[in-house]
Amino acid sequence: MVSGRRELGRGERVVPGVFRLRLPLPWPGVPHCNAWAVKAGDGFVLFDTGRHQPDSFSDLERALAMCNLRLDELRLVVCTHAHSDHYGQAATLVERTGRELWMHPNHQHMTRMAEDPEAVNAGRIEVARQSGVPEEPLRRYASQLGSRESGLSGVIEPDRDLVNGVTIASDLGDWVVYETPGHAPSHVCMFQSEQRLLISGDHLLGRISLYFDYGYTPDPVGEFLTSLDVVERLGARLCLAGHGRTFTDVYAHVQGNRKLVGERLQTVLDAVSREPLTAFDIVPHVYGDSLSQQNAQWLLSKILGYLTHLQATGVIRRIAGEPERWSA
Ligand SMILES: [Zn+2]
Ligand SMILES: [Zn+2]
Repeated sequence: MVSGRRELGRGERVVPGVFRLRLPLPWPGVPHCNAWAVKAGDGFVLFDTGRHQPDSFSDLERALAMCNLRLDELRLVVCTHAHSDHYGQAATLVERTGRELWMHPNHQHMTRMAEDPEAVNAGRIEVARQSGVPEEPLRRYASQLGSRESGLSGVIEPDRDLVNGVTIASDLGDWVVYETPGHAPSHVCMFQSEQRLLISGDHLLGRISLYFDYGYTPDPVGEFLTSLDVVERLGARLCLAGHGRTFTDVYAHVQGNRKLVGERLQTVLDAVSREPLTAFDIVPHVYGDSLSQQNAQWLLSKILGYLTHLQATGVIRRIAGEPERWSA
Protein backbone atom coordinates (compact mmCIF):
# COMPACT_ATOMS: atom_id res chain seq x y z
CA MET A 1 0.00 0.00 0.00
CA VAL A 2 1.64 3.21 -1.12
CA SER A 3 -0.69 5.71 0.48
CA GLY A 4 0.09 6.33 4.12
CA ARG A 5 3.46 4.66 3.85
CA ARG A 6 6.11 6.51 5.74
CA GLU A 7 9.80 6.17 6.28
CA LEU A 8 10.81 4.14 9.34
CA GLY A 9 13.76 4.39 11.70
CA ARG A 10 16.67 2.16 10.67
CA GLY A 11 19.85 1.03 12.39
CA GLU A 12 23.20 -0.31 11.18
CA ARG A 13 26.61 -1.09 12.64
CA VAL A 14 29.30 1.34 11.46
CA VAL A 15 32.38 0.02 13.26
CA PRO A 16 32.51 -2.58 16.06
CA GLY A 17 30.59 -1.17 19.01
CA VAL A 18 29.20 1.85 17.13
CA PHE A 19 25.75 1.93 15.55
CA ARG A 20 24.09 4.53 13.35
CA LEU A 21 20.38 5.06 14.06
CA ARG A 22 18.82 6.80 11.09
CA LEU A 23 15.62 8.54 12.17
CA PRO A 24 13.08 10.22 9.86
CA LEU A 25 12.45 13.98 9.87
CA PRO A 26 9.52 15.89 8.34
CA TRP A 27 11.73 18.64 6.87
CA PRO A 28 12.12 19.30 3.14
CA GLY A 29 15.72 18.60 2.11
CA VAL A 30 16.59 17.08 5.51
CA PRO A 31 14.89 13.66 5.48
CA HIS A 32 16.79 12.08 8.41
CA CYS A 33 18.93 12.70 11.41
CA ASN A 34 21.37 10.33 13.04
CA ALA A 35 21.60 9.19 16.61
CA TRP A 36 24.64 7.08 17.54
CA ALA A 37 24.59 4.14 19.95
CA VAL A 38 28.00 3.21 21.38
CA LYS A 39 28.49 0.06 23.46
CA ALA A 40 29.47 0.70 27.06
CA GLY A 41 29.78 -2.22 29.50
CA ASP A 42 26.50 -4.13 29.69
CA GLY A 43 24.64 -1.48 27.70
CA PHE A 44 25.13 1.51 25.44
CA VAL A 45 25.43 5.29 25.43
CA LEU A 46 23.06 7.12 23.10
CA PHE A 47 24.44 10.24 21.39
CA ASP A 48 21.45 12.33 20.23
CA THR A 49 17.82 11.30 20.27
CA GLY A 50 15.93 12.24 17.11
CA ARG A 51 13.02 14.66 17.00
CA HIS A 52 9.77 14.13 18.90
CA GLN A 53 6.94 13.61 16.40
CA PRO A 54 4.22 10.99 15.76
CA ASP A 55 5.74 7.47 16.01
CA SER A 56 9.22 8.86 16.63
CA PHE A 57 9.77 6.74 19.72
CA SER A 58 8.92 3.52 17.90
CA ASP A 59 11.25 4.64 15.09
CA LEU A 60 14.05 4.86 17.63
CA GLU A 61 13.21 1.49 19.19
CA ARG A 62 13.01 -0.09 15.74
CA ALA A 63 16.41 1.32 14.75
CA LEU A 64 17.89 0.00 18.02
CA ALA A 65 16.33 -3.43 17.48
CA MET A 66 17.99 -3.64 14.05
CA CYS A 67 21.30 -3.33 15.94
CA ASN A 68 20.27 -5.90 18.58
CA LEU A 69 19.96 -3.16 21.18
CA ARG A 70 17.10 -2.62 23.61
CA LEU A 71 15.98 0.46 25.45
CA ASP A 72 16.54 -1.19 28.84
CA GLU A 73 20.25 -1.39 27.98
CA LEU A 74 20.48 2.40 27.66
CA ARG A 75 23.00 3.74 30.20
CA LEU A 76 23.29 7.43 29.32
CA VAL A 77 21.81 10.03 26.95
CA VAL A 78 24.23 12.59 25.50
CA CYS A 79 23.19 15.43 23.17
CA THR A 80 25.53 17.19 20.73
CA HIS A 81 23.24 20.24 20.93
CA ALA A 82 19.72 21.24 21.87
CA HIS A 83 18.07 21.40 18.43
CA SER A 84 14.90 19.33 18.27
CA ASP A 85 16.33 16.70 15.91
CA HIS A 86 19.13 15.97 18.41
CA TYR A 87 17.44 16.57 21.76
CA GLY A 88 13.72 16.21 20.96
CA GLN A 89 13.17 12.82 22.62
CA ALA A 90 15.53 13.32 25.56
CA ALA A 91 12.69 13.89 28.04
CA THR A 92 10.93 10.66 27.04
CA LEU A 93 14.15 8.66 27.14
CA VAL A 94 15.05 9.90 30.61
CA GLU A 95 11.52 9.29 31.84
CA ARG A 96 11.36 5.74 30.47
CA THR A 97 14.85 4.61 31.48
CA GLY A 98 15.66 6.71 34.56
CA ARG A 99 19.09 7.43 33.07
CA GLU A 100 20.90 10.77 32.97
CA LEU A 101 21.04 13.39 30.25
CA TRP A 102 24.35 15.14 29.58
CA MET A 103 24.35 18.29 27.46
CA HIS A 104 25.98 21.71 27.21
CA PRO A 105 24.50 24.30 29.63
CA ASN A 106 23.85 26.98 26.93
CA HIS A 107 20.66 25.28 25.78
CA GLN A 108 18.30 28.26 26.28
CA HIS A 109 18.12 28.80 22.51
CA MET A 110 15.84 25.74 22.53
CA THR A 111 14.54 25.28 26.03
CA ARG A 112 13.31 28.88 26.36
CA MET A 113 11.34 28.37 23.15
CA ALA A 114 9.60 25.35 24.65
CA GLU A 115 8.95 27.06 27.98
CA ASP A 116 7.72 30.40 26.66
CA PRO A 117 6.99 30.16 22.92
CA GLU A 118 5.03 33.41 22.85
CA ALA A 119 7.93 35.50 24.16
CA VAL A 120 10.43 33.80 21.85
CA ASN A 121 8.17 34.13 18.80
CA ALA A 122 7.51 37.80 19.59
CA GLY A 123 11.28 38.31 19.69
CA ARG A 124 11.70 36.57 16.34
CA ILE A 125 9.02 38.68 14.70
CA GLU A 126 10.66 41.81 16.06
CA VAL A 127 14.02 40.71 14.61
CA ALA A 128 12.35 40.02 11.25
CA ARG A 129 10.66 43.44 11.29
CA GLN A 130 13.94 45.16 12.22
CA SER A 131 15.58 43.25 9.37
CA GLY A 132 13.24 44.78 6.80
CA VAL A 133 10.77 41.94 6.21
CA PRO A 134 7.72 43.66 4.64
CA GLU A 135 4.37 43.80 6.40
CA GLU A 136 2.49 41.09 4.51
CA PRO A 137 5.05 38.27 4.71
CA LEU A 138 5.68 39.31 8.30
CA ARG A 139 2.00 38.76 9.13
CA ARG A 140 2.04 35.34 7.48
CA TYR A 141 5.26 34.48 9.29
CA ALA A 142 3.71 35.48 12.63
CA SER A 143 0.65 33.27 12.13
CA GLN A 144 2.79 30.35 11.00
CA LEU A 145 5.12 30.63 14.02
CA GLY A 146 2.22 30.24 16.43
CA SER A 147 1.22 26.86 14.99
CA ARG A 148 4.67 25.36 14.66
CA GLU A 149 5.45 22.14 16.55
CA SER A 150 8.43 22.35 18.90
CA GLY A 151 9.64 18.82 18.13
CA LEU A 152 10.34 18.28 21.84
CA SER A 153 8.62 15.69 24.02
CA GLY A 154 9.40 17.87 27.02
CA VAL A 155 11.91 20.29 28.43
CA ILE A 156 14.55 18.69 30.54
CA GLU A 157 17.73 20.09 32.08
CA PRO A 158 20.99 18.19 31.76
CA ASP A 159 22.11 16.19 34.80
CA ARG A 160 25.65 17.01 33.84
CA ASP A 161 27.07 19.92 31.85
CA LEU A 162 29.03 18.87 28.77
CA VAL A 163 31.89 21.35 28.86
CA ASN A 164 35.48 21.06 27.59
CA GLY A 165 37.26 18.00 28.95
CA VAL A 166 34.29 16.02 30.25
CA THR A 167 34.70 12.36 29.29
CA ILE A 168 32.14 9.71 28.38
CA ALA A 169 33.24 6.13 28.91
CA SER A 170 32.57 3.44 26.30
CA ASP A 171 33.94 0.07 25.18
CA LEU A 172 36.00 1.89 22.54
CA GLY A 173 37.60 4.08 25.21
CA ASP A 174 36.73 7.52 26.55
CA TRP A 175 35.14 10.22 24.40
CA VAL A 176 36.32 13.74 25.24
CA VAL A 177 34.02 16.74 24.94
CA TYR A 178 35.04 19.78 22.87
CA GLU A 179 32.81 22.84 22.93
CA THR A 180 32.03 23.84 19.33
CA PRO A 181 29.51 26.71 19.40
CA GLY A 182 28.40 28.43 16.19
CA HIS A 183 25.75 26.20 14.63
CA ALA A 184 24.09 26.42 18.06
CA PRO A 185 25.34 27.93 21.34
CA SER A 186 25.00 24.50 23.00
CA HIS A 187 26.99 22.58 20.39
CA VAL A 188 29.72 20.12 21.40
CA CYS A 189 31.68 17.45 19.53
CA MET A 190 32.98 14.26 21.15
CA PHE A 191 36.33 12.75 20.15
CA GLN A 192 37.65 9.25 20.78
CA SER A 193 41.40 9.66 20.39
CA GLU A 194 42.57 6.00 20.06
CA GLN A 195 40.05 5.24 17.30
CA ARG A 196 40.15 8.86 16.05
CA LEU A 197 36.37 8.94 15.80
CA LEU A 198 34.51 12.23 15.98
CA ILE A 199 30.84 12.58 16.85
CA SER A 200 30.31 15.90 15.12
CA GLY A 201 26.57 16.67 15.45
CA ASP A 202 25.72 19.46 13.00
CA HIS A 203 29.11 21.19 13.32
CA LEU A 204 30.56 19.09 10.48
CA LEU A 205 28.25 17.36 8.02
CA GLY A 206 29.11 15.21 5.01
CA ARG A 207 27.18 17.57 2.77
CA ILE A 208 28.21 21.07 3.82
CA SER A 209 25.24 23.02 5.12
CA LEU A 210 25.69 26.12 7.24
CA TYR A 211 23.39 27.35 9.96
CA PHE A 212 23.94 29.71 12.88
CA ASP A 213 21.57 30.35 15.74
CA TYR A 214 21.41 34.13 15.75
CA GLY A 215 20.61 36.24 18.80
CA TYR A 216 22.09 34.31 21.71
CA THR A 217 25.79 35.06 21.46
CA PRO A 218 27.70 38.10 20.13
CA ASP A 219 29.17 36.49 16.97
CA PRO A 220 27.97 32.97 16.05
CA VAL A 221 29.85 32.93 12.72
CA GLY A 222 33.09 33.85 14.48
CA GLU A 223 32.42 31.13 17.05
CA PHE A 224 31.79 28.63 14.27
CA LEU A 225 35.13 29.46 12.61
CA THR A 226 36.95 29.05 15.93
CA SER A 227 35.14 25.73 16.43
CA LEU A 228 36.39 24.55 13.03
CA ASP A 229 39.96 25.22 14.26
CA VAL A 230 39.23 23.17 17.39
CA VAL A 231 38.03 20.18 15.39
CA GLU A 232 40.77 20.43 12.78
CA ARG A 233 43.46 20.02 15.44
CA LEU A 234 41.97 16.71 16.60
CA GLY A 235 43.01 14.79 13.49
CA ALA A 236 39.85 12.66 13.33
CA ARG A 237 39.83 9.79 10.84
CA LEU A 238 36.11 9.10 10.71
CA CYS A 239 33.30 11.54 11.33
CA LEU A 240 29.94 10.41 12.75
CA ALA A 241 27.73 13.35 11.80
CA GLY A 242 24.25 14.37 12.82
CA HIS A 243 22.84 13.87 9.32
CA GLY A 244 23.90 11.72 6.36
CA ARG A 245 26.61 9.10 6.07
CA THR A 246 29.88 8.87 7.93
CA PHE A 247 32.86 10.41 6.13
CA THR A 248 36.63 10.11 6.35
CA ASP A 249 38.07 13.27 4.75
CA VAL A 250 37.50 15.34 7.89
CA TYR A 251 40.19 17.92 7.07
CA ALA A 252 38.66 18.57 3.61
CA HIS A 253 35.27 19.12 5.23
CA VAL A 254 36.72 21.63 7.68
CA GLN A 255 38.33 23.45 4.75
CA GLY A 256 35.11 23.30 2.73
CA ASN A 257 33.16 24.91 5.57
CA ARG A 258 35.75 27.68 5.95
CA LYS A 259 35.68 28.35 2.22
CA LEU A 260 31.89 28.55 2.07
CA VAL A 261 31.72 30.89 5.08
CA GLY A 262 34.39 33.05 3.42
CA GLU A 263 32.40 33.20 0.18
CA ARG A 264 29.17 34.09 1.97
CA LEU A 265 30.88 36.85 3.95
CA GLN A 266 32.36 38.27 0.75
CA THR A 267 28.98 38.25 -1.02
CA VAL A 268 27.34 40.05 1.90
CA LEU A 269 30.19 42.57 2.06
CA ASP A 270 29.98 43.22 -1.71
CA ALA A 271 26.23 43.81 -1.45
CA VAL A 272 26.43 46.38 1.35
CA SER A 273 29.44 48.06 -0.29
CA ARG A 274 27.21 49.24 -3.13
CA GLU A 275 24.48 50.74 -0.94
CA PRO A 276 23.14 50.43 2.61
CA LEU A 277 20.82 47.42 2.79
CA THR A 278 18.56 45.66 5.27
CA ALA A 279 19.25 42.00 6.08
CA PHE A 280 16.12 41.12 4.11
CA ASP A 281 17.44 43.03 1.06
CA ILE A 282 20.60 40.93 1.18
CA VAL A 283 18.88 37.51 1.06
CA PRO A 284 18.56 37.39 -2.78
CA HIS A 285 22.20 38.47 -3.18
CA VAL A 286 23.30 35.35 -1.30
CA TYR A 287 20.53 32.82 -1.93
CA GLY A 288 19.00 33.97 -5.24
CA ASP A 289 15.23 33.60 -5.35
CA SER A 290 15.14 30.62 -3.00
CA LEU A 291 13.46 32.60 -0.20
CA SER A 292 10.18 30.99 0.83
CA GLN A 293 7.81 30.98 3.76
CA GLN A 294 9.45 27.77 5.00
CA ASN A 295 13.07 28.90 4.91
CA ALA A 296 12.70 32.64 5.61
CA GLN A 297 13.76 32.49 9.23
CA TRP A 298 16.57 30.06 8.45
CA LEU A 299 18.02 32.32 5.72
CA LEU A 300 17.54 35.54 7.67
CA SER A 301 19.25 34.05 10.72
CA LYS A 302 22.26 33.21 8.58
CA ILE A 303 22.42 36.65 6.93
CA LEU A 304 22.24 38.30 10.37
CA GLY A 305 25.06 36.01 11.46
CA TYR A 306 27.24 37.13 8.54
CA LEU A 307 26.39 40.80 9.11
CA THR A 308 27.18 40.58 12.82
CA HIS A 309 30.50 38.90 12.06
CA LEU A 310 31.47 41.55 9.49
CA GLN A 311 30.57 44.19 12.06
CA ALA A 312 32.61 42.41 14.75
CA THR A 313 35.63 42.40 12.43
CA GLY A 314 35.17 46.11 11.77
CA VAL A 315 34.44 46.11 8.02
CA ILE A 316 30.76 47.12 8.12
CA ARG A 317 28.52 49.08 10.44
CA ARG A 318 24.90 48.92 11.53
CA ILE A 319 22.79 51.99 10.79
CA ALA A 320 20.11 52.26 13.46
CA GLY A 321 16.56 52.86 12.26
CA GLU A 322 13.30 51.20 11.36
CA PRO A 323 14.34 48.95 9.74
CA GLU A 324 18.05 48.90 10.45
CA ARG A 325 20.46 48.92 7.52
CA TRP A 326 24.05 47.87 7.06
CA SER A 327 26.81 49.69 5.28
CA ALA A 328 30.46 49.09 4.45
ZN1 LIG B 1 21.31 21.55 14.66
ZN1 LIG C 1 20.49 18.56 12.96
